[in-house]
Amino acid sequence: YAYVENRKGNYVVSQDICDKYYREGEVEKALSRALKQNRIEAWFQPIYSVEKDAVIGAEALARLKDPDLGYIPPDEFIRVSERTGEIMEVGRQVFERVCELLSTGEPGRLGINKINVNLSPAQCMNDQLAFELSAVADKYGVSLASINFEITETSFIDSQLIQKQMMQLKEKGATFSLDDFGTGTSNLIRLLKLPIRAVKLDIYMVNTFFKGESNILPSLVKMFREAGMQVVAEGVETREMKEALADMGCDYEQGYYFSKPLPPEEFITFLANYSVSGKNGN
Ligand code: C2E
Ligand code: MG
Ligand code: MG
Ligand code: MG
Repeated sequence: YAYVENRKGNYVVSQDICDKYYREGEVEKALSRALKQNRIEAWFQPIYSVEKDAVIGAEALARLKDPDLGYIPPDEFIRVSERTGEIMEVGRQVFERVCELLSTGEPGRLGINKINVNLSPAQCMNDQLAFELSAVADKYGVSLASINFEITETSFIDSQLIQKQMMQLKEKGATFSLDDFGTGTSNLIRLLKLPIRAVKLDIYMVNTFFKGESNILPSLVKMFREAGMQVVAEGVETREMKEALADMGCDYEQGYYFSKPLPPEEFITFLANYSVSGKNGN
């Protein structure tokens, strides 16, 4: 309840709500500071290919470390940035970090084909999106062919606008995945018509299956594959999950079982060790 009755019998805003607004204000300040100082980080979480039995990709995840508040979860500062309009700048800084890493050539040498970059619905409303992303990639001498963008269903609200941006990015070699499948209101028919190569099954959806609360997962995986899409499972935390999802027909897997998201240097170290002593053989 937003309002509670105090000892004097007056209705006042509850402590919970006060705390929530106070925190939002703090996050908002921390975010503006970080953006001005170009301090938004990108961390990288490996993506495992079942067919290759190797890590072939990674998802870039935004990180914000404030000197006073410590690390602020992206769910929190991304939402704030969408409200303040700073999401474009957050997205730009994350993309710069991704291009910075790709321009070293290290990920490519260590078997990474593509890096996944999240685009928020607000970014997808920008008719300069393809132009702006291309400009950043060019600046670093990076080809968009090494980028796979993750977008959610909400981004297709202005379907014309985003599809035009997607076509422009696709011409330069970029590909697209549908993120968070299973959390929204899915229109499967429409979904299969979009220029999307892979579907990422949301952690929540994967967990419901492994907790025995729903058994729809195997049929969904089968359906997407029959429709010609690749399937990525998120939130893979155990070897049992890894194997069951591979048996189900998932093409790619991502989760703490392989690795948590890592800062760029640690990600490179992970790749170097994984391909030498990982399940890759040798
Ligand atoms: P997402 O794109 O669905 O990213 C997956 C989230 O699941 C990440 O959380 C990741 O750390 C977490 N995760 C990965 N493996 C496991 C696992 O095995 N178990 C569990 N419990 N969690 C796992 P994170 O980094 O906190 O990001 C949360 C969300 O924030 C992302 O969800 C994405 O929607 C958004 N986000 C993050 N970075 C960006 C960005 O650069 N741009 C935009 N627009 N959104 C971003
Ligand atoms: Mg994602
Ligand atoms: Mg996801
Ligand atoms: Mg998610």
